[in-house]
Amino acid sequence: MPVYFPREIIHAANGLAVGILGGGDKKLILKGDAYYQSYICHMPRSIMELVLDNHFEGFDGFIFPSICDVIRNLSGMFQLLERGSFVKYLDLPQNFKSHIGGEFYIHELQTVLKSVFDINGVSVTPERLNHSISLFNRNRELIHRIYAIRQDFPWRMTAADVYNIVRAGYVIPVEDHNAILEKVIALVIEENGEPLDKIRVLVMGAFCEQPPLGLIRTIEMAGCYIIEDDFLLGSRWIMGNIDTYTADPIKALTDAYLEKSTFSSSVYDVGNPKEVRLLELIKSRNVDGVIFAAPSFCDPALLDHPILQKMCNDRNIRFISFLYSENTGQFKVIKEQVGTFSDSIKLWEEPLQLKK
Ligand code: SF4
Repeated sequence: MPVYFPREIIHAANGLAVGILGGGDKKLILKGDAYYQSYICHMPRSIMELVLDNHFEGFDGFIFPSICDVIRNLSGMFQLLERGSFVKYLDLPQNFKSHIGGEFYIHELQTVLKSVFDINGVSVTPERLNHSISLFNRNRELIHRIYAIRQDFPWRMTAADVYNIVRAGYVIPVEDHNAILEKVIALVIEENGEPLDKIRVLVMGAFCEQPPLGLIRTIEMAGCYIIEDDFLLGSRWIMGNIDTYTADPIKALTDAYLEKSTFSSSVYDVGNPKEVRLLELIKSRNVDGVIFAAPSFCDPALLDHPILQKMCNDRNIRFISFLYSENTGQFKVIKEQVGTFSDSIKLWEEPLQLKK
């Protein structure tokens, strides 16, 4: 489940970590609504629908990284339904000190490894885990490279195409995904297409329940290049490489989580304010404005957005804001809002001048 899970440990234990991100706009919700009150986001209902319709047959276990209370409750429902050999609510540390949050996280990961060992009997040696980490390091590097190319040449590949390519990595082995990403990079380093008269935007708030593909397309068709986003954030969560030359790779994974995590509304990182980190991202990606797009009823996102928007107001950074559901089907209103945003920046704004 979203947002981040260190898939390296499952890979090293001879498993495949599959990302379950909801039913999107393809799954009709009939039974899932009965499990949740009306005023929560959509994704857990569609995941309930998927499990009740037996789409997860053949999965050995389910891991629910801590994001919010909704996901905690969802893990409880999976326990009651007795699906798979284990159901684990993985409490990601909110304390970033090595001897507190770090120790806790190591214990959490070892609990997962024990559950997998009980199924397949595979012991994760340091060599195996270092090898897996190196493959995921490569995966992050390749995705980072695609984003870097799009930063300079966003017309070469649409944001929707990038989204699909990155999302493929949630359901196939990392070795296969790396091979696909390498082919994609070989294509996008060549010039193709022509730059269009669009503004450059950063989309923020979509870290958990994913927006429908039509919404991503709508933003770009309404006059924006999506240069940066927090879609599928787990695949880019760790910023930079994780140490692979170590006798204790679990600690290396832990140190990376404590020291190299990106920011997200699902994390309470009090010593590292998100508005400062958002500002750094806006500067480094050189965007013209921010689109705050959050799932309806997503408490973590909607609690953060006023803080982030105040920073934008204080810095004269243009932004708009709207809500979506994974199954939103009507984009006309959003297209008009985004189109007006784009036009207003193109026609009347001076380019954003932010001090480095
Ligand atoms: S979309 Fe928001 S409220 Fe819903 S499960 Fe994710 S973080 Fe929680």
